Parts: sequence; C-alpha cells; structure tokens
Amino acid sequence: MASQAELATVKEPLIQIGAMPYFAPATNARRLLSDSTVLRISNALQSSLFVKDVIHAFSGEARRVVRRAALRYRNRADDLVIQEGRQQLHRCSYELNLLGKSLGEISFMRNHPFTGDEQALFEVMLCALIYPLRNALLYERALHSALKDPLTGINNRASMEQHIEHEVLSALRHATPLSMLMIDIDHFKLINDTHDHPVGDAVLIAVANCIARCTRDSDVVFRYGGEEFAVILTNTKSAGARLLAERIRGAVEELETRAGGAKVLVTASVGIAELGAGDSKVDLIERADTMLYRAKFRGRNQVVGADD
Ligand code: GH3
Ligand code: MG
Ligand code: MG
Repeated sequence: MASQAELATVKEPLIQIGAMPYFAPATNARRLLSDSTVLRISNALQSSLFVKDVIHAFSGEARRVVRRAALRYRNRADDLVIQEGRQQLHRCSYELNLLGKSLGEISFMRNHPFTGDEQALFEVMLCALIYPLRNALLYERALHSALKDPLTGINNRASMEQHIEHEVLSALRHATPLSMLMIDIDHFKLINDTHDHPVGDAVLIAVANCIARCTRDSDVVFRYGGEEFAVILTNTKSAGARLLAERIRGAVEELETRAGGAKVLVTASVGIAELGAGDSKVDLIERADTMLYRAKFRGRNQVVGADD
C-alpha cells in the first residue's frame, strides 16, 4: 500500500480569491453544486463571527456535499487548530489567501482518496468560506486586543470588569465561594526612577508571568492598573486564596530581573477578599483593595486578609 505522503494531495497556493471569479475554480463544480446549495452554505457561514463556529458550519456543509470528510483548520498566526472529525489517511490541503494575506490552511481528510470532482466541490465551497472566515478572524483579533494588556499580554481591566460581573453572579446564584487577590508591586516608582522605564516594563512583564505561572487554569489573572494585578479565584475560599497569595509573594521575591548586571529587588504586597452573601463586585474589589493597603501600611512584601 502506498504511504500517506505519496497519496496526500497538497496544493498550494490554492485559493487566490482576489484573482479568481467566484465559480471559476472547477469546471464540473457548477454542475455538481446547485445555486440553492451555494446559498445555503453562504448563509450557514454567516451565522456567527467566531472562527470556531464558522469552521464548524463549514465542516457540516462539507460533509453534506462530500460524505465522511473530516476537516482540520490550522492558522499559525492566530495560534488556532480546529479539527472536526478524526485524523484520516488521505488528505487534501488548501492554503487560504485573501489579497496576499494568509487566512490559514484547511485539510480535508478521509479513509479513501478524494476524486477530482470532490476536490472541485471543495474549491467552490472554499470560495464561500474565505470572506466569513476573514471577518471572523478580524473580529476575534479585535476582541482579543480590546481585552488584553499590550505590555504583558494578560487580561486587562476591561476584561476584569466583564469577568468579575459574571463570576459574582454565578457564585451568588450557586452559593459557591469566590475569592480575589489584589497584588501591587512595592516601591515600583523607585524601580523606574533608579533603572529607567524599560527595566520597569521588564519587571511588569516578569511579575505578570510569575503570577500566571503560580495560578491554576481556573484562576484568571488581570493587569488592573499600572503595577497592580488582580486574580479571580472561582470556587475558592479565603484560606485557599491565602495559600496562592503566599506562593505568588514568595515567587515575586525570587524573580531574577537584572539591570546592568545587578539583580533588581522586586517585592509585592497582596490583599485577599472573599465574596460574602449579598456582596456586589464593587464590594469584593473594595475589600481586596482595603486589605492591600493594610499590607502596604504594615511594611509591604506581605499578604493580608480579613483574618489578619
Ligand atoms: P507602593 O509600594 O506604595 O505601591 O509604591 P509604588 O511606587 O509602587 O506606587 P506608586 O503608585 O507611587 O507608583 C507606581 C508607578 O508605576 C508610577 C508609574 O509611573 C508606574 N507605572 C505605571 N504603569 C507603568 C508602565 O506600564 N511601565 C512602567 N515602567 N511604569 C509604570
Ligand atoms: Mg506599587
Ligand atoms: Mg499601585
């Protein structure tokens, strides 16, 4: 039996939409795919602005037209891999380009080879995919940049406002615990003044990464302000939050940020708050802030919660 590599159909560059009329790619495709089918596919692809939904809809339509075809979408620039169905022996891959910009790569897979007619059908369908996919990618990139802090790459304050609202409502509804850490780098202005802003920026990035490393996947980390970070801990009481807060405080102290060969001394103070019955998100944030200022007042580089 021939190997997969020998049998795989890899065409590139396959779709150059800017240079290609909508129905041009396949001679037989126009006969094989009716106008009403093309319209149905177009409608299905415009039902969402999320890439995952668009690919899912496309995969569903592809399976209606070419039976048992699995599909994989890969986009390195956006760090996306979406697979619909299992990996299979035969593959037919297309690079998607629009006006010279890559939109990723789509592979159709099946246990027996695709015929020429089937490939022609894929090519017609891919033409319908290009614009909805481009729009979804742009939308998700815009969403991402609206909710991420450009310096550290972690979630920004706007993202926290959304997230905490949702978490507080959910915790109150299900009577589950919810805690929050407010973390502030100590004497950060002095770091900036002593070493210059790029070193200050490097410290911010190092602290953000350090907090992210200390947390679990279910904990969400935000840059709340200049040198202030917040962590929202679902399903966690203040005792659990304290353990994490101590771990973060210790890890920040151990950070090896260097300026001109010398270690930059970085410490952080942490305030802990747990959501009480009848609390709002504002109450939770204010309480964590009060605890943080207590930690500053008591000498910095320490963790303070309601029990202290
Ligand atoms: P404390 O221990 O009381 O928290 O003192 P502090 O110096 O850390 O706090 P303060 O609020 O006085 O100073 C915070 C500084 O953080 C002032 C501001 O210029 C700096 N800062 C805010 N955002 C950034 C940033 O993105 N990059 C850098 N390099 N500095 C920043
Ligand atoms: Mg500070
Ligand atoms: Mg501050």
